[in-house]
Amino acid sequence: MKFAVFTHNGKQHLGRLADNDTVLECLDVPESVFEQDGVVSLIGRPSPAVTDKIPVSDVELLAPVPRPSRNVFCVGKNYYAHAEEFAASGFDSSAAKGAVPEAPIVFSKLPETVEATGSAIKLDKSVTNTVDYEAELAVIIGKPGRNISKKDALSHVWGYTIVNDVTSRDLQGHHNQWLIGKSQDSFCPMGPWAVTADEIDLADTPIKCWVNGELRQDSNTGLLIFDVPTIIAAISNGITLNSGDVIATGTPAGVGIGFKPPRYLAGGDIVAIEIGGIGTLENPVEEI
Ligand code: MG
Repeated sequence: MKFAVFTHNGKQHLGRLADNDTVLECLDVPESVFEQDGVVSLIGRPSPAVTDKIPVSDVELLAPVPRPSRNVFCVGKNYYAHAEEFAASGFDSSAAKGAVPEAPIVFSKLPETVEATGSAIKLDKSVTNTVDYEAELAVIIGKPGRNISKKDALSHVWGYTIVNDVTSRDLQGHHNQWLIGKSQDSFCPMGPWAVTADEIDLADTPIKCWVNGELRQDSNTGLLIFDVPTIIAAISNGITLNSGDVIATGTPAGVGIGFKPPRYLAGGDIVAIEIGGIGTLENPVEEI
């Protein structure tokens, strides 16, 4: 099933997609319950009643986890072809320069970077002019845990969504640690909604990204270097994962930095990311 957080007539709702994703069934969950954790607030609640049905075209979608309670975990260099294009770009400040990492590279983005589908990716040219897109499958944790084994890892997953791990390449390289380059305001579009874990085949799910209609990234989650159970085991190694935590699993080849010369985002661009079984996350780029 797919679930979304959205605004309609000035009121926020939690809803379930129906009729081939054209209708939202409003669920009887108080706004105070879902305003932060979004779709994850359904965990442990009896199946809520449907109070209304609204066409998707009539609502403003919010991110499925509108304001994560802490940073979004992210994995870097997690598809072979992307690891190679990034190593060749000259911007690689990670420890595993020029090589496929031996363990997952984990960094994070501030919770305030999360934006909905349709919201603008802000391009502040006084700060950076090397802003890049990264299409990624994101895991939404349901069951908390610490020292989670690979074998048990998928039982901790509530579902999946799409994240655009927007990145300033010069800031990413300049500061060695990636937080600043990855956490500029508006740099984590997420959505358009979330799907429950049973709907995604991690071994074979297409992931694509277009900029202004031009296909730039075209891969499959089956090509991840470190798969989702390995990522969850690595992050939860001494760190308790909480319900509502979001983990972006890495981007395939075809980012702007991979082109010669690089093809960074510019004001007026439209970035669309599609993951099979989830939907399409689409965001314009706006110069500020
Ligand atoms: Mg990334």
